[in-house]
Amino acid sequence: MRDVPFLDLRAGYLELQPAIDAAVGRVLASGTYILGSEVEAFEQAFATFCEATQAVGVANGLDALRLALMALDVRPGDEVIVPSNTYIATWLAVTLCGATPVPVEPDPVTCNIDPKKIESAITSRTRVILAVHLYGLPAELGPILEIARRHDLRVVEDAAQAHGARYRGQPVGGHGDAVAWSFYPSKNLGALGDAGAVTTRDVGLAERIRELRNYGSRVKYVNDRIGINSRLDPVQAAVLSVKLAHLDLWNERRQEIALRYLSGLQGCNLILPVLPVGDRSAWHLFTIRCVNRDRLQAWLSADGIQTGIHYPIPPHRQKAYAGLQFSDAALPLATQMAGTTLSLPIGPHLAQADVDRVIASVCRASHSGLLDA
Ligand SMILES: *Cc1c(COP(=O)(O)O)cnc(C)c1O
Repeated sequence: MRDVPFLDLRAGYLELQPAIDAAVGRVLASGTYILGSEVEAFEQAFATFCEATQAVGVANGLDALRLALMALDVRPGDEVIVPSNTYIATWLAVTLCGATPVPVEPDPVTCNIDPKKIESAITSRTRVILAVHLYGLPAELGPILEIARRHDLRVVEDAAQAHGARYRGQPVGGHGDAVAWSFYPSKNLGALGDAGAVTTRDVGLAERIRELRNYGSRVKYVNDRIGINSRLDPVQAAVLSVKLAHLDLWNERRQEIALRYLSGLQGCNLILPVLPVGDRSAWHLFTIRCVNRDRLQAWLSADGIQTGIHYPIPPHRQKAYAGLQFSDAALPLATQMAGTTLSLPIGPHLAQADVDRVIASVCRASHSGLLDA
């Protein structure tokens, strides 16, 4: 029997092949290969999708985060509050601005930054709260924005996993001061290479990011700020415009898979992701937690089922951050999650029969005692 893929990226291309090939061909024939109308058209469409007023296309998600922080004037000596359990890029963006990431532990139910733990991490140097919508589930933006307002802090969101997610009915992308997106190929909205964007409702901030992504220049050969080169590639913009029109449908397929997992895996000896009430997850990942995670992963692999771990080493345990000297005891939840999370296959092109194969295999593992402490 063939393997159940963790994510079939090729299927996403093949479903839309005529439209994607035509869009790429249009850019190749246009003679415009940096910025231009394809990038502007995608920025417009994505801003509308997010109910933000502005979108600025950039080269990747890490740069989107970094440019958002740069535009907010985050600099050496500043502190930025980040989740302790996130992809390394969230922390790197802070460090690349010369600022210090200050980790806050997650709510153990949602796995997102716990608003109740934020205030005790705020100091006189804190400038920004950087919330992540981990696995596609919106962070608790209401309380986070309220804390930020009270302490005069800015809010940046890492929405790299949350295209199409909604918080209290409103799409993610227009809540915080700036929202950073990645269009890395495996994301819910994925390019055919690296790509990213920042959305905001702040026209001035968007202008600053436009300047900073282009060497700090608004007028050619005139540089008012120290910027970087991080522009969205028009070939990728054209591909993203095609895919954006299918994002809602593709997210609905993810939601159907998530609901099937949630009902099929009930009664198994593991912690399931929450089904949000009032919000909508983008279901970028379907991540369960259990003891003996490595044994379950090996069991599924033997059954021909590919899985992922998000993430095996938390940022504070990375050699790159050894200098910050955080102990596991200081960040017990991030440490525990790294040892217990397992992401099951999910994606718009995953067949229902494959979802049922995964459910059956996990249930057999659970009933055989593999998931007992
Ligand atoms: C993918 C991802 C990023 C980085 O995006 P790139 O485009 O790969 O630079 C940042 N944060 C999170 C949470 C991500 O999942």
